[in-house]
Amino acid sequence: AHRDKPGSCLAAYAFDLTDEASVLGEGASGKVVVGKDRKTGKEVAIKVMVKRKLQDEDIAAVSVEVDAMQRTKGHPHVVELFAFFDEPDAFYLAIELVRGGELFTQLASGDAYTEVEARNAMHQAVAAIEWCHRNGVVHRDLKPENILLTEAKRSAAVKVADFGFAKTIRPGSHPLTTPCGTPGYVAPEILKSAGTYGYGLSSDVWSLGVLLFILLSGEPPFYLPTTSMKTGKKLKDEREREAEMFRRIRHGVYHMDNAVWTEVTPEARSLVTSMLTVDPDERPTLMQVQRHPWWTAKLEGSAPLR
Ligand code: ADP
Ligand code: MG
Repeated sequence: AHRDKPGSCLAAYAFDLTDEASVLGEGASGKVVVGKDRKTGKEVAIKVMVKRKLQDEDIAAVSVEVDAMQRTKGHPHVVELFAFFDEPDAFYLAIELVRGGELFTQLASGDAYTEVEARNAMHQAVAAIEWCHRNGVVHRDLKPENILLTEAKRSAAVKVADFGFAKTIRPGSHPLTTPCGTPGYVAPEILKSAGTYGYGLSSDVWSLGVLLFILLSGEPPFYLPTTSMKTGKKLKDEREREAEMFRRIRHGVYHMDNAVWTEVTPEARSLVTSMLTVDPDERPTLMQVQRHPWWTAKLEGSAPLR
């Protein structure tokens, strides 16, 4: 795309940054503001990452973020990168503006989505990430803050954003079918990871499983617990509670005994359970997820998807 020569200030030239009032969001890496394309007058989101606030590894991550977005261009449920500027003081990413805010905000009300709403949103998010995987990109930071809505309502279309933590898999090769190295010499674990959804792709499936759990029940499967699962003792400080949460994640210890689950179809519960499989080799791929019966199950007031 438009990469500038040092000092040419293309970002300021091509886009007007609007004022403080139009901050769309703030994350670990900087802030996202509304900008305007000078030529077309179209509004865009501009992610600004000020260099003096970045560590060396953050700077390396910016080029991965840009590369990941360029590779995943062209999907209706992935935000599109229009332009990237490497200015003396900051990096600027001009991104398709998604106006409905974060999925996080919709969830913050505390109510679960209806199963129909959950299925629509999830269907799009799964398609988006399956597309990323097919193009050699692992997202690695899927959470409701990074999933945006085209309008501020639960039935709106979703778009996956924030490739700031993404990893890309060898350029130009198909991640799932091309083992690296000369075939006769290649180690079994390389074949294994290439053949069985390796390179971390399965971790996106887990995160989407956590998201699906939250959509259906209104609460996360893993959160800071107050008692130890081993000893039954009360946990006092934050650090102990966090360690306990990680222990539960490692063992896949969560429960579906909230009353809301009795109103969820067995197909939905089965999909959540399979996506939250602890062993990444046993966890389904997104292609397998897309073949799950939930998508075509009869839900009240909704036609089967796909
Ligand atoms: P970080 O890596 O700092 O988390 P993000 O890319 O997630 O940065 O952006 C931070 C927040 O800005 C998002 O959670 C969202 O609220 C908002 N945002 C990001 N991209 C867009 C966009 N394309 N359209 C609208 N809002 C956006
Ligand atoms: Mg983010």
